[in-house]
Amino acid sequence: MNYHILTLFPEMVESGLNTSIIGRAVAKGILSIDAINIRDYTKEKHGHVDDTPYGGGAGMVMQAAPVCDAYEALCDRLGKRPRVLYMTPQGSVFNQTIAQELAREEELVFLCGHYEGIDERALERIVTDSLSIGDYVLTGGELPAMVMIDCISRLVPGVLGSDLSAEIESFHDNLLEYPQYTRPEIYEGMRVPEVLLSGHHKNIEEWRRKQSIRRTWERRPDLLERANLSGKERIYLEELKNTCNSPDSMVSYNSCDEKRCSSDAGNACKNIK
Ligand code: SAM
Repeated sequence: MNYHILTLFPEMVESGLNTSIIGRAVAKGILSIDAINIRDYTKEKHGHVDDTPYGGGAGMVMQAAPVCDAYEALCDRLGKRPRVLYMTPQGSVFNQTIAQELAREEELVFLCGHYEGIDERALERIVTDSLSIGDYVLTGGELPAMVMIDCISRLVPGVLGSDLSAEIESFHDNLLEYPQYTRPEIYEGMRVPEVLLSGHHKNIEEWRRKQSIRRTWERRPDLLERANLSGKERIYLEELKNTCNSPDSMVSYNSCDEKRCSSDAGNACKNIK
């Protein structure tokens, strides 16, 4: 996977993506990160890449020419025209499903805006996808690009130690991950659940799957509509729904019936094993 990031602040993405798992994957040649400085493509005498908005208003707008020229130079170099993902709060909200789809590409271009954004004509000319990381406004597209690159990279074969790790995490199959524990067995009086010490793989798998379903129902019930549950698991979910009033009451502990919800493990139900 080759990432090309069109930005006014290449040092920001280079330093941000050069550590830990992503840094190691780059060193191994599984990923490459090419931060392209849009400023290198300005033809203005003083190196300007932005100007005031037509029609008035606050801030500056990035000009179309340096952005398009930077992309065209990249296409000439690659001999193809890769997808251009524009980082914008106006785009579709990025999620694991979009990440899985993007992880199948060989080249991806991330276009990072700054100031008030980019001249619309550049966007019309080169952008193929508009993506946001959430309903809030940041100063630039560099952090969103880094967030997406981090997430997509974990799905590229060879980046994670075990490709299985990405398959059993939150959002895979539209379920949140089960709780995780490591040594010591007892911490501050809190024990690791017995089943995890049993060495009985089938029971462990079943317990984890139930925990995933329970967590998803408690924390993100919206995901369950698209989860792939077996008949037995659907019955378990119905039991959960009947035992606890609603996910909302689970979140605000004190508004739910004591018999139905326990205070151990956050807001888990007591009488569902
Ligand atoms: N004026 C723009 C608007 O209202 O849509 C916002 C511009 S924002 C201050 C500057 C740049 O930050 C944007 O061009 C975009 O690249 C990036 N950005 C800000 N918030 C973002 C978000 N939630 N997701 C993705 N990119 C974002």
